[in-house]
Amino acid sequence: MLSPPGGSPGGRAGPERTSRLRFRLTLASTRESAVARSLLGPSRKGRKGIATMKAARLHAYGRPLVVEEVPTPEPGPAEVIVRVAGAGFCHSDLHVIDGEIQVLPRMPLILGHENAGFVASAGKGVTAVREGDPVAVFGGWGCGRCDYCVTGHDQLCVAPEWCGLSNRDGGYAEYLRVPAEKYLVKLGNLAPKLAAPLTDAALTPYRAIKKALPTLEPDHPVLVIGAGGLGQYGIKLLRILSGAPVVVVEASASKREAALSLGASAALDAAAPDLPAKLLELTRGGVSAAFDFVGSEGTLELALGTTRTLGKVYQVGLAGGTARMKVMQNVRFEVGFEATLWGTIKELREVVALVEDGRLALGESELAPLEDIQQVYSRLKRGEVRGRVIITP
Ligand SMILES: [Zn+2]
Ligand SMILES: [Zn+2]
Repeated sequence: MLSPPGGSPGGRAGPERTSRLRFRLTLASTRESAVARSLLGPSRKGRKGIATMKAARLHAYGRPLVVEEVPTPEPGPAEVIVRVAGAGFCHSDLHVIDGEIQVLPRMPLILGHENAGFVASAGKGVTAVREGDPVAVFGGWGCGRCDYCVTGHDQLCVAPEWCGLSNRDGGYAEYLRVPAEKYLVKLGNLAPKLAAPLTDAALTPYRAIKKALPTLEPDHPVLVIGAGGLGQYGIKLLRILSGAPVVVVEASASKREAALSLGASAALDAAAPDLPAKLLELTRGGVSAAFDFVGSEGTLELALGTTRTLGKVYQVGLAGGTARMKVMQNVRFEVGFEATLWGTIKELREVVALVEDGRLALGESELAPLEDIQQVYSRLKRGEVRGRVIITP
């Protein structure tokens, strides 16, 4: 950010331009330190006088997260540092911590891919956001150059740099380094800490449902399997976007109740005997689309077996199941299958817009300080959490 005056590309800075630049840089750094004072509180100096922050890092699979002091990130060119207000504790972090999903190229690493907060500082070349702006952070970072990135599908990048799930640290920390301003979605009336789960828990079902829209019809039901955090957003989004009746399959009685209160037309017990036959009867021969927010062997089998001809099955949850399809045996002709991943930056903007103008209600959540992150892990693992826990570093 503080490159020497006249050192800009092209080297065209004359004396007048140089002094203007100097003036602007002074203003910027004054503003930055004022914002830093208000947002950061007293800064801490670790060994060697480097500013440090609190962060929860994973040092090895199967080990508890360690809350410790690490160097506070400084913005490089085009980067933005966000003061994290909230970081949603996602179920997939359980799988990463336990080593069931081994995607981390290095450790220790700061996890946390559902983040929102305030811009703390911005590197050279950043123009769309300013210090203090409330932002939600899109976490599906990519290389920026592959076919998927250049068509706006950064989350599907051939060499993903996902926030808190790659070489790049995530948001279980006071500050988060964001590689590009395009990954920030500005917030209006929504408090950043409450907005954090939108970046995954709402965005992921949103993408799957948007993809399914051409197959959804108001006179034929769709199936939602699993009415947890993502599934509940799924039910709400289906009601907003499609008009198709929503049939839910869920093991927990309280979540079935929640599904009905969110507008599902029926909620069946996942443990009910003859569930596939019941579903086929209830849906007059099968659903036009099935959204599997669990992704186990059994739920995938149910989704594939109860989707009608020309229908589509979307796997969103990653509980380790295999989708087995044998036409004329368990799957009807022209049934499509897709495992969707996260969402795009544009889709996150759409989700934020739906919430900010009151069309989409936020899911249930609770706040927890960073120091309690290991307890949050344990509670989530024991199934004791309703809705989303948002870590507030
Ligand atoms: Zn997640
Ligand atoms: Zn890419």
